[in-house]
Amino acid sequence: MNEHYLSGIGMTSQRTRNRLVQRLQEAGIRNEEVLNVIATTPRHLFVDEALAHRAYEDTALPIGNGQTISQPYTVARMTETLLANGPLERVLEIGTGSGYQTAVLSPLVRTLYSVERIEPLHNRAVERLQSLGYDNVHLTLSDGTWGWPEHGPYDGILAAAAPEEVPESLLAQLADGGRMVIPVGGKEQKLVLITRRGDHFARKTLETVRFVPFLPGVQN
Ligand code: SAH
Repeated sequence: MNEHYLSGIGMTSQRTRNRLVQRLQEAGIRNEEVLNVIATTPRHLFVDEALAHRAYEDTALPIGNGQTISQPYTVARMTETLLANGPLERVLEIGTGSGYQTAVLSPLVRTLYSVERIEPLHNRAVERLQSLGYDNVHLTLSDGTWGWPEHGPYDGILAAAAPEEVPESLLAQLADGGRMVIPVGGKEQKLVLITRRGDHFARKTLETVRFVPFLPGVQN
C-alpha cells in the first residue's frame, strides 16, 4: 500500500484515527488486537470521498443503495465478541457492504468469506479490498439467508444485517464450538452471541443495536 495515499492529510491523519481508538476504549473495547487493526484500517477509503472527512467519527455513514457502513464501535464490539475465545480459522460474514468490517476482520482470521446481496456494493467492495491487498478474503454476490455452504462449516459467523429470526442455514453452517454474532429483531434489535456445542445452540443477548434489515434475494 502506498503510504502517502493512506496517511492522507488532516482529517485522515494517524492522530485522528488514534482519537477514534481512544473513544472506543472509553466505550469499553478492550481487545488490543482489534484496537490496533481499527487504528490502521483506512476507513476513509470505504466511504464516498465527500464523506471522507467524517470517516473517523464513531458513526455509521451512508454508502449508497440505502445501506450504511457500520459504526466503528459496533464493528469493534462484534469483532471482539467473535474472537473472545481465541483466533478463528474460517469466518463467514453476511453483509459485506463497503467492506470495512471485512477489512477489520481480515488480519485477525485465517480465511474470510463474505456475502453481499446488492450487486453495486459487492462490486465496489471487491475492487476496494483487492486494491488494498486483502488477499485472505473471498467475496460473493448472493443472498446470505443461505450462508455460503461450499466453504463451511465456519468457526465464526458475523452478520451485519438484522433478521427477525436467525436463518437455519447459518446455524447449520456453524462448526461445533463455533461462534456467531448477529443482530436479531425488527424495530427493537439485540446483538446476540450464539455458541454451538454439538446440536445445542447457546444464546446470549448482548446489547441493543441498530442495523439495516436482513433482506431476501439478490438486487442488481
Ligand atoms: N459491515 C458493513 C455493513 C454494511 S450494511 C460495512 O461496514 O460496510 C449491511 C449490509 O448487509 C448491506 O450492504 C446489505 O445489503 C447487506 N445484506 C442485507 N441482507 C443481506 C442478505 N440476506 N445477504 C447478504 N447481504 C445482506
